[in-house]
Amino acid sequence: SKMVYYFGKTRTDGDGSMKQLLGGKGANLAEMTSIGLPVPPGFTITTECCGQYYKEKQKLPTGLMDEVNAAVAILEKENGKKFGDTNNPLLVSVRSGAALSMPGMMNTILNLGLNDESVVGLANDTGNERFAYDAYRRLINMYGDVVMEVHHEYFEEAFSKIKKKYGVDLDTEVPTKGLIELVAEYKKVYKKHTKQEFPQDPIKQLELAIEAVFKSWNSDKAISYRRIEGITGLVGTGVNVQSMVFGNMGEDSGTGVAFTRNPSTGENKFYGEFLVNAQGEDVVAGIRTPQPVAEMPKWKCDADKTIGKKVHAELMAIKTKLEKHYKDVQDIEFTIERGKLYMLQTRTGKRTGAAAVRIACEMVKEKLITEKTAVLRIPPNDLTQLLLPSFDPAAKKKEKPLTIGLPASPGAAFGMLAFTADEAVERAHNGEKVLLVRKETSPEDVDGMHSAAGILTSTGGMTSHAAVVARGWGKCCVAGAGAIEIDEKGRKIKVGGKTYTHKDVLSIDGSTGEVYGGELATVEPKLSGDFETVMKLSDKYRKLGIRTNADSPADSKRARDFGAEGIGLCRTEHMFFEPERIIHMREMILAEEKEAREAALKKLLPYQRKDFEGIFKAMKGLPVTIRLLDPPLHEFLPHDAKSQAEVSKATGITTAKIKNRVAQLHEANPMLGHRGCRLSVTYPEILVMQVTAITEATISCLKKKIDAQPEIMIPLVGTVNELSMLRKIAEETIEDVKAKKKFDGKLPILIGTMIEIPRAALTADEVATEADFFSFGTNDLTQMTFGYSRDDINSFLPDYLGEEILEKDPFQSLDTTGVGQLVSIAVEKGRATNGKLKLGICGEHGGDPASIAFCHKVGLNYVSCSPFRVPIARLAAAQAAL
Ligand code: PEP
Ligand code: MG
Repeated sequence: SKMVYYFGKTRTDGDGSMKQLLGGKGANLAEMTSIGLPVPPGFTITTECCGQYYKEKQKLPTGLMDEVNAAVAILEKENGKKFGDTNNPLLVSVRSGAALSMPGMMNTILNLGLNDESVVGLANDTGNERFAYDAYRRLINMYGDVVMEVHHEYFEEAFSKIKKKYGVDLDTEVPTKGLIELVAEYKKVYKKHTKQEFPQDPIKQLELAIEAVFKSWNSDKAISYRRIEGITGLVGTGVNVQSMVFGNMGEDSGTGVAFTRNPSTGENKFYGEFLVNAQGEDVVAGIRTPQPVAEMPKWKCDADKTIGKKVHAELMAIKTKLEKHYKDVQDIEFTIERGKLYMLQTRTGKRTGAAAVRIACEMVKEKLITEKTAVLRIPPNDLTQLLLPSFDPAAKKKEKPLTIGLPASPGAAFGMLAFTADEAVERAHNGEKVLLVRKETSPEDVDGMHSAAGILTSTGGMTSHAAVVARGWGKCCVAGAGAIEIDEKGRKIKVGGKTYTHKDVLSIDGSTGEVYGGELATVEPKLSGDFETVMKLSDKYRKLGIRTNADSPADSKRARDFGAEGIGLCRTEHMFFEPERIIHMREMILAEEKEAREAALKKLLPYQRKDFEGIFKAMKGLPVTIRLLDPPLHEFLPHDAKSQAEVSKATGITTAKIKNRVAQLHEANPMLGHRGCRLSVTYPEILVMQVTAITEATISCLKKKIDAQPEIMIPLVGTVNELSMLRKIAEETIEDVKAKKKFDGKLPILIGTMIEIPRAALTADEVATEADFFSFGTNDLTQMTFGYSRDDINSFLPDYLGEEILEKDPFQSLDTTGVGQLVSIAVEKGRATNGKLKLGICGEHGGDPASIAFCHKVGLNYVSCSPFRVPIARLAAAQAAL
């Protein structure tokens, strides 16, 4: 099959839809060419070729170079230049580009086609000898580094010597003579470290460069990046070979990168940076600090006083054209060669959660996209960023920032300083909160960036790849804080006359770029009007209800503010952990006979009743699912002698008796042991106390006209007989309370169960006859379906993920093929015998977008998740419905 796709005036083989085959960059170069944007012509080698290269044990596919040669011939004709010519030579760039963008992770080589002869041709053609030798030395450096793995440092050393010799500081100040000498030196460095001459045949250069790009697909950093981003299923990278245009031809040339809207805030303002007289890598690598595009109109040069105005106007027209065409924010690279603007790349702009929300809302208003597209376009998990804390303004007022860098990725982070990616990974792994502090973060650092609480760099712009990567993750990042002197070896930094070591804490504000000494207080975020709009749109399109898992009036209220439509799981055991309550809980567990147990339970009852009343009030008018006591009792007793002595003192029970009871309650597999409804079967008085508290709280609320809607949920049921026994006791208890309270209306109390045991799912038709509702406890259901202990999975999970035995942690994202089947079966069988059955999910999966999509598909009524995930769930549910 066809391996090379041409784009140019002669013909354009590909288009924007062919990302899988041509990579994102290649597909968009073809698309931009087709819509008439100024793109230097070139061709794209398919991602399949890269796949083939690895299949054939790293050999270029047969016939590839023939197709490349044919494409080069068209390119030569279209440009009116010849590859390797001693006169006006054709030069090309060679760039990677996979179907999904992996910024900075793979290789690029520029100025390919230069050799000892064509460099003279380039000098003659441009009338600029300095420029030609500068291009040549860049090629030898990049080629040596990327293709032959000669360390960049060796080239830097040679450059420093030349700069010293000519007494200059900046690269741009080295005279032509110096650059000619530098080329000779670079060739020596190349030969010394590769034991070969720098290749003079341009086609040979091209062939090796193509191979180097294929190789970079499987470099360590590329592999890490794909793992962290969860990128799977791609065959390889495309290779884009494109005629060179030069941003470094003098003061009338330049290069830049931009977003069509602000990628941090979403503001509809063209947002970018450019450098006069520079090549693209200078901007991306953060070596020189670029100027904002907004200042471009001020750019003048001897040849053209209005060059900046003209180029800026052209860029603005291109912005509109691109957004109209792609209907989304674009991230572009451009170059100006002697006053003429060229587009080198466009891709969908990565953005923060806040920007995603604002852009979606504004594009709907601009009629660029529909409401549905807007809902579908926002990644639900990115909403977390809007819900993130920021620094308390009051605390900030009291502190003076040590320095201000660029606000590269919003949020607030603090931590102790880590100076290398490895250090960050290790210390984070040991539970420390660290900030990764680097001069520039290079793509090699992705693991460390991911582990750190935040990232702080001393050089580099807003569009350096570090900033782009951090924003994509929603990780707080301050870049280009130039006042910071970093001593990596000494593990310290100097800033504002002060020194901070790896033991000191700094705080960074990714929304303003400020850097502070010490740890600053953080505050909860405020939500924007656009956020509300997105939530309303989500509610308009979703079918699933959204509830929350909450056990206190405060959490319930927060979740309700986030849009929760009820409580799907109130874990009553959490109410017993407070100091003055746990003592009665312990008395209850330590009691030897029923009377003593009931006496202890009696002391707990008022606490529970009060909590339930508070929750009913916070959730008035909405259902509240209260789960009866679930964990094994040993969890409430201390296991060490010192704490046992304290319990003895508080309860008057001898330590010997306590020890004895702890031993009695010991189980080899407590999560499979005496817990859940099994507790109520052996100790019905526990159930009676809890149901009494619920009923009393309900009656008390109703008397105060508070619309309480409790749902009593019985956990860990495996057979219908458990449920029918416990339901009967619960119903009798409710009747008893009603009689005692002389309440004779009907109480709106439902009784249902969790589906957490595979047998309950398989016999859901029977179970449903005794249940008003099912709630899938997918934490336990996953545990029991896989046979993985939920508490111990981390001892082997990393291996399972590394070996791709598991695609995802099944406790985070529902295993739809296995566990999901049990859910489907239970839904179907349950509804078959009980048409009125309400169905929900309350395991952690209730807040995971992929799992929510599954819940929608199988027809659950609601999902329930932790309060901070409620907005995410609302959006994910809408996306599932569209
Ligand atoms: C579950 O098992 O999914 C559940 C929600 O209950 P818990 O996590 O409390 O066992
Ligand atoms: Mg459970």
